[in-house]
Amino acid sequence: MESAEIARRWLRFFEERGHTVVPSASLIADDPTLLLVNAGMVPFKPFFLGEQAPPYPRATSIQKCVRTLDIDEVGKTTRHASFFQMCGNFSFGDYFKEQAIPMAWELLTRSQSEGGFGFPEDRLWVTVLHEDDESADLWQKTVGVSPERIQRRGPKDNYWHMGVPGPGGPCSEIYFDRGPEHGREGGPEADEERYLEVWNLVFMQYELSSVRSKVDFDVRGELPARNVDTGMGLERMATLLQGVDNLYEIDTTWQVLDRAAELAGKKYGSDTRTDVALRVVADHARTAVMLIGDGVAPGNEGRGYVLRRMMRRTIRNMRLLGAPETSMAELVDASIGAMAPQYPELERDRQRITQLAVAEEGSFNATLRSGTARFESAAVETKGSGAGVLPGHEAFRLHDTYGFPIDLTLEMAEEEGLTVDTEGFRRLMQEQRERARADAKAKKTGHGDVSVYREVADRIGRAVTFTGYDEVVGEG
Ligand code: ATP
Ligand code: MG
Ligand code: MG
Ligand code: MG
Repeated sequence: MESAEIARRWLRFFEERGHTVVPSASLIADDPTLLLVNAGMVPFKPFFLGEQAPPYPRATSIQKCVRTLDIDEVGKTTRHASFFQMCGNFSFGDYFKEQAIPMAWELLTRSQSEGGFGFPEDRLWVTVLHEDDESADLWQKTVGVSPERIQRRGPKDNYWHMGVPGPGGPCSEIYFDRGPEHGREGGPEADEERYLEVWNLVFMQYELSSVRSKVDFDVRGELPARNVDTGMGLERMATLLQGVDNLYEIDTTWQVLDRAAELAGKKYGSDTRTDVALRVVADHARTAVMLIGDGVAPGNEGRGYVLRRMMRRTIRNMRLLGAPETSMAELVDASIGAMAPQYPELERDRQRITQLAVAEEGSFNATLRSGTARFESAAVETKGSGAGVLPGHEAFRLHDTYGFPIDLTLEMAEEEGLTVDTEGFRRLMQEQRERARADAKAKKTGHGDVSVYREVADRIGRAVTFTGYDEVVGEG
């Protein structure tokens, strides 16, 4: 079943059950606490928080998401994409668990000829929060899930809140058992690669008065209205319904992967290192196209930096695979080809997207040309001295003189089996920043022109914000 068909079935199913179909919002979140939309509920947040009256009691959507926290998982696990689509159904004080649970089950297990996804019931597992007897009962008694396939888990996995006082509540997740060839027996608690999480149902029922961590919070009481927020990963569903091994081999990523392999003259499936690199390229090139499509431009901070990092990792991996210096235009073309059936606006925007990606490739190639030799001699020297740690001053010089962002140095070091003294690097960055500040101040008291120093301080100040790829915006 093609991805586009999974999307159609999802929307049709919930539309038939009284949900208003809401188009995906842009990846650029209309929300100051978020860099990029990372879940289907984000556009509906004001309704859940009671800040706005919802124009409909129930809604369904397929939301474009980017999760920067998952970037390092890409290609290594079988289930994490940096860009993915979250299919959701939402109730704003309308139905609750008693309907959300049976509806989810119905869509998953109804036969494909009748509009469902046709999963065999005995391959599905569900999880509930330890004390959530209500959900456990619904799964067991109303839906008929066998009790040995219902697992109870703690708040780390089965409680949702926003990290701040506000709404929260237990969640219940549905997993598909991919079979013994994919890992250990024992349900999702034992192995999340064998048991693939496909759908999370969140029951927003409580008001939290304080939140100290994911698992440590106080509940003030019940919310005036009880809400439902669910999210099912479209790409994970496609992985299962297309009978492929992992999320990078589904219809919408395969085209990109295949083009990358062709450009590099490599065969997918022949060795692990090559395969991981090809998966990273397929994932990141597609994410880059979706980000540019939504108006993100490469830059040194925030979402611009997320995009830049996506493109740079794509380019480096292509180079490691042995592809020619310029391959971005081809990868953009393949990504648009893969995604345009669901997002036709990409086709209209083709020229702009391609130009931007090709320009970034040009400038990154220049950085690589200038710094790679320096990196290599530093790596050889480090190894020669019997140390496994690239000194902080080397990382600093690569950054300061050659324009290597620290994550590039970290990545290249890892490939050489080295770590980097990031503490030392940070200290030098800090010292440089302080020097620049002091200089600027001296200039200022002398009534000189400080703009150039501001610029330097700015540039350096920005450079250190590189290190965290948190989804939550820090300062600035
Ligand atoms: P996992 O535990 O596998 O990392 P999650 O618990 O972080 O997933 P949720 O936050 O519950 O995921 O998101 C709801 C659904 O979105 C998941 O059940 C999954 O189907 C999908 N999903 C989440 N992260 C990704 C990702 N990086 N790539 C593809 N699909 C994802
Ligand atoms: Mg996750
Ligand atoms: Mg999970
Ligand atoms: Mg989850």
